[in-house]
Amino acid sequence: MLTTGVDNYPGFVDGIQGPELMDKFRKQAERFGVEIVNDDVTAVDLKSKPFKVTAGEKDYLTKSVLVATGAETKWLGLPNEQKLIGRGISSCAPCDAFFFKDRNVIVVGGGDSAMEEALVLTKFATEVSIIHRRDEFRASKIMIDKAKANPKIKFLLNSVVSDVLGEQKVEGVRIKNVKDEKETEMAIDGIFVAIGHLPATDLFKGQLELDEKGYIVRMANGEGPTAFKMMTSKEGVFVAGDVHDVHFKQAVTAAGYGCQAALEVERWLEMA
Ligand code: NAP
Repeated sequence: MLTTGVDNYPGFVDGIQGPELMDKFRKQAERFGVEIVNDDVTAVDLKSKPFKVTAGEKDYLTKSVLVATGAETKWLGLPNEQKLIGRGISSCAPCDAFFFKDRNVIVVGGGDSAMEEALVLTKFATEVSIIHRRDEFRASKIMIDKAKANPKIKFLLNSVVSDVLGEQKVEGVRIKNVKDEKETEMAIDGIFVAIGHLPATDLFKGQLELDEKGYIVRMANGEGPTAFKMMTSKEGVFVAGDVHDVHFKQAVTAAGYGCQAALEVERWLEMA
């Protein structure tokens, strides 16, 4: 819902706006009689059966739950940032790199995502500067080596973005060196924020197994073709999409996980 032009979802030759894609998903599901409740889930009880999901004033009792609450991009938290998302600020190079053809951009972060975003951006941008707050990277050696070998990629280490410049669109950034506190301005057209994600799993803490970053852990309940591979640590509770996917985080991969999990939920309900 938060993204603008989507060019990496199959079937849309000319691309599609994020909200329009979501609306199409919804209408397609409704054509098959899906009932959609628009409300925030405020509590889940997976400790006893049937499971209980509370949304608004109502409790839903169920034999199975499929969790697809997603993950939120971590943003920098700068004053100008939120209003310029989609106007030069992005968190997804595969989605938005094309809009920065022959432009100068920065990528913020020092993990594998930052390296990958920068490498994708070099296909379109003139120059890509990776701004990282330390002088050591969290990224894997192979990704750092690839980034260092690319002549379009420059590194600005021990540095943080202290301000985003521009009113209607990104026009530059102010960068602070964390060692000597000196600030400089840099004219750029795009900022790709790659400082990690926050999975939306607060509701499930203490009830489902989460990894150290808070993502839901998938736990097949056995081996072979009959095992439920999209199951969580709780039998009957399944997971799909970015809430368990640290790696790909694309709309099409989330949809693919959703399909796998839905097939398993259906099989689970037949057995239940
Ligand atoms: P990550 O590994 O958690 O790295 C986040 C980076 O952002 C770190 O370098 C961190 O700095 C920096 N950071 C965090 N908060 C910040 C802030 N407020 N201001 C400035 N910098 C900040 O996240 P990720 O890169 O998204 O990767 C997530 C996982 O996906 C990893 O396991 C990664 O290996 C995997 N992944 C793999 C590939 C691949 O292999 N092709 C591609 C993408 C992702 P510090 O280092 O100082 O903490």
